[in-house]
Amino acid sequence: MVEVEPVDIDAKNQSIGIDLGIKTFAVMSNGEKSQSPNYSVLDRKVRKFQKKLARQLKDSKRRNITRIKIAKLHNKIADTRKDFLHKLSTKIVNENQVIVLEDLNVSGMVKNRKLARSISLQGWREFRTLCEAKSEKLSRDFRVISRWEPTSQVCSECGYKWGKLDLKVRTVQCLNCGIEHDRDENASKNINKVGIGHCHDSKRTQRKSKTTSVASFNEASRITAPSGR
Ligand SMILES: [Zn+2]
Repeated sequence: MVEVEPVDIDAKNQSIGIDLGIKTFAVMSNGEKSQSPNYSVLDRKVRKFQKKLARQLKDSKRRNITRIKIAKLHNKIADTRKDFLHKLSTKIVNENQVIVLEDLNVSGMVKNRKLARSISLQGWREFRTLCEAKSEKLSRDFRVISRWEPTSQVCSECGYKWGKLDLKVRTVQCLNCGIEHDRDENASKNINKVGIGHCHDSKRTQRKSKTTSVASFNEASRITAPSGR
């Protein structure tokens, strides 16, 4: 495993907001995206051996071999993840003076088992810990904003509040300013804004949200590309 040590110099960028997800690990307010390594092949093998293990006799030689195979696969997954998270956190902390993440309610998200499995494979918590530690080392400002901030409900360009979006909706066009946003990129820009304290004019946002019901939103802001990810 190659570990890249953080370099102690001034960051070239002032701040960055990061939106963490499952398919795309991180979408950043500067427009960059970072894909997770594909753990599914290794994870499928783990599940296969776990089923095998359940059928094998206790204290048998064969069972022990299966057990070791599972442990090795787990190590490989952990190493792959660690390597990925280390490289990404080093790059982000090196390049930015303020790093903003959203507080994730991981336990609240793991309602179904399949999702729980992919969430635990991602290592969001691990990533946050790494960013925090490296930020401290380089005198960066690491901030975590509340999960209750409506970061996907507001236009990062003009502050217009369109309300809750279905998870399937990946792209949205703001009715107010006309800009078309990638859902996650828009969220990361809002995470950055909230983190550095540049909130939108709340009076205007509140007034608009009061007169814009969820029902009228669908007609108001055109959903341009509903698709799963
Ligand atoms: Zn807008």
